[in-house]
Amino acid sequence: MQKIKMTTPLVEMDGDEMTRVLWQLIKDELILPYVDLKTEYYDLGLQNRNKTRDQVTIDAANATKTYGVAVKCATITPNHQRMEEYPELTEKWKSPNATIRGILDGTVFRTPITIECIKPAVRTWEKPITIARHAYGDVYKAVEFLTDSPGEAVLTFRAEDGREEAVSVQKVDGPAVWLAQHNKDASIRSFARSCFQYAVDTRQDLWFSTKDTISQKYDGHFRTVFEEEFEHFKAAFEMLGITYFYTLIDDAIARVIRSKGGYIWACKNYDGDVMSDMVSTAFGSLAMMTSVLVSPDGKYEFEAAHGTVTQHYYRYLKGERTSTNPIATIFAWTGALKKRGELDNLPELSAFAEKLETACLNTLSSGIMTADLVSLAESGVNAKAVDSWEFINAVKACL
Ligand code: NAP
Ligand code: MG
Repeated sequence: MQKIKMTTPLVEMDGDEMTRVLWQLIKDELILPYVDLKTEYYDLGLQNRNKTRDQVTIDAANATKTYGVAVKCATITPNHQRMEEYPELTEKWKSPNATIRGILDGTVFRTPITIECIKPAVRTWEKPITIARHAYGDVYKAVEFLTDSPGEAVLTFRAEDGREEAVSVQKVDGPAVWLAQHNKDASIRSFARSCFQYAVDTRQDLWFSTKDTISQKYDGHFRTVFEEEFEHFKAAFEMLGITYFYTLIDDAIARVIRSKGGYIWACKNYDGDVMSDMVSTAFGSLAMMTSVLVSPDGKYEFEAAHGTVTQHYYRYLKGERTSTNPIATIFAWTGALKKRGELDNLPELSAFAEKLETACLNTLSSGIMTADLVSLAESGVNAKAVDSWEFINAVKACL
């Protein structure tokens, strides 16, 4: 059989633990036999990040800027416990996702992968809901403190040229707690542009919600920036027949629950954190969620939404064939291959990626699934738990 040719390499970022095992398996069984795969390989496994003093992560992000499309395996973000597990680590390296996001300056879009035999908890949902989460600032970059006496807190901004602006936060008559947060105009603008661009790319309506009735300047600024940036996309939206819709976060929640799905919901950082967990749980599981980082200048990094599935890896090291769900990692590959096909005008490559996705969904629909999904399957479906190797073989048989 003739393998499908590629013209531009994909930026391939390998990772850690169970997902690294699945990564190789997916490539060997589901991609390499069919595609003359061109990748520029970066090993983001923890050991190699340590060996290169994390330069490999920076190089991989820069390569994504050059080539435009990357696919990333889940990676360990070292914490205290990992420092003990890997005594050779010379530093507690930063989260690779944070480094890559910093360089590409993007927004993360997460979409559930839906199948007929696993129904969402919300019965009206017929199509996936995509959460677009702003990934900079607000409470994630806040300063906070406690005070124990009566007094007053004042918030002062000191401009580089020496000017000062100050506002009284509150006078209190006893102990109190305080927090100051910020966001940057440039970051809000790139968030808005990424959202509009993604809506155009995927031909879906865009919803955006904040609490600008209460936070008139802070959230009000987010709303204004979105309105300003929308001006650059209005024509494209009109041509595609899609809409941009702003509403208050509480109204958005009521509408989301009553909706049929099939749109993008842009959320501020904290709202996106909470709402993406709500949406993914209501649709089924994190292992059935795609995740893509889109930069404002149209660079794409595809990954799974879950982590390296450490507990499964420890069992794998003891010789067990675990039933780890590879769907999100397979869809990271198909997302990247499809995008490469689209950008390079290689319809065969895009078609192959679609075919692989369909093979996954058909396998699941036939009742062959990993253990995490069996308990979610509708009654009446003859669901059977298989290990990851059996699952991938079943997918291959559908290709
Ligand atoms: P996790 O790897 O997502 O796993 C949490 C639990 O969710 C697993 O123990 C498993 O539950 C279930 N699960 C997740 N993915 C699954 C899959 N594909 N198939 C079946 N079950 C799945 O999160 P974590 O344990 O909190 O983090 C582990 C490591 O991943 C950490 O070192 C963290 O830094 C890293 N991480 C990386 C990324 C990323 O690179 N994007 C994101 C998050 C976390 P059961 O054990 O009950 O089966
Ligand atoms: Mg969270």
